[in-house]
Amino acid sequence: MKIFCVGRNYADHAKELGNAVPEEPVIFMKPKTALWQSNTPFYYPEFSNELHYEIELVLRISKNGKYIPENQAENYYDAISIGIDFTARDIQAELKKKGLPWEKAKAWDNSAIVADWMPLTEELLRNPIHFSLLNNKETVQVGNSTDMIFSFNKIVSHISNYFSLNIGDMIYTGTPAGVGECVVGDVLEGYFEQQKMFELEIK
Ligand code: MG
Repeated sequence: MKIFCVGRNYADHAKELGNAVPEEPVIFMKPKTALWQSNTPFYYPEFSNELHYEIELVLRISKNGKYIPENQAENYYDAISIGIDFTARDIQAELKKKGLPWEKAKAWDNSAIVADWMPLTEELLRNPIHFSLLNNKETVQVGNSTDMIFSFNKIVSHISNYFSLNIGDMIYTGTPAGVGECVVGDVLEGYFEQQKMFELEIK
């Protein structure tokens, strides 16, 4: 199983971190060990002093493929959820400054949170999807899938030009504006439309 992530897929978020709006999807990966198991505690990473949440819509790949045309991409994913692409922003800033890869900031153990999967219905595919993140009961991020720079189909097609996609692979599709810092004791709650999908306390 592979975990793909799209960076800067919402213009407002790209701007808030001082990045240009990309001309093609920015892709990075997390290893399998990055996936947090919901029955275990989530610990603040000891190497960072600036942990950021990034709430994102996550897709699950349902069919193996490579060089998938955009107009057929819809046949390659069948489930959706929300999750957090946790980021050690201080580490990332340092790496970016030096032009180095992001893995130490993005791909560490438990940095990928994903809630339960929901079947991706025709209705979900054809309508805007709203999602949000609360920190200590206060809304900190609100997303709308129609604000994505690159659509689900574009992302799947683009990734498949470089990497084989396999059943069970996941794609974090980018975070909207409002990313921010969280500290030990914070309680994060993710909502997909009106439905609460996860609650996580930072230990
Ligand atoms: Mg992200």
